Amino acid sequence: MSEEKKPWFHEGLRFGCTGCGGCCTGSPGYVWISEEEAQAMASHLQIGYEEFLKRYTRRVGNRMALLEDRKNYDCVFLKENRCAIYSARPTQCRTFPWWKENLTSEHEWQETARRCEGIDHEDAPLISAEEILSHLD
Ligand code: SF4
Ligand code: SF4
Repeated sequence: MSEEKKPWFHEGLRFGCTGCGGCCTGSPGYVWISEEEAQAMASHLQIGYEEFLKRYTRRVGNRMALLEDRKNYDCVFLKENRCAIYSARPTQCRTFPWWKENLTSEHEWQETARRCEGIDHEDAPLISAEEILSHLD
């Protein structure tokens, strides 16, 4: 990593998911999914693709997103503060909090930390800048 291209997080960032489910609720949003991910989730749940779409997804324009509770904004798969399809969760969930918009500045990262207890958690490992950047590709 050359000096001039060093990101603000070049010394790494501390993060370790506690599984608290905080990023799966709390405010209106979209968990975008691809057809392939929907198929993988349907298969994980051992139901048909069409049934999966009907029960758990919504169309937003030409994209597809998981349903969420209209009152508390829980993702449809959040059960007792845990993801009910954790091993088959979509990429958007797998890559949080390593999203470009969360890493544009230290301020944005700290804002993200307000809703993610895994950031700077006392047990969180230091994740290197190289690994963080690999999630952004
Ligand atoms: S699919 Fe799982 S990890 Fe993703 S938002 Fe829903 S409950 Fe959370
Ligand atoms: S809010 Fe952070 S610590 Fe909690 S489940 Fe989401 S990624 Fe993990």
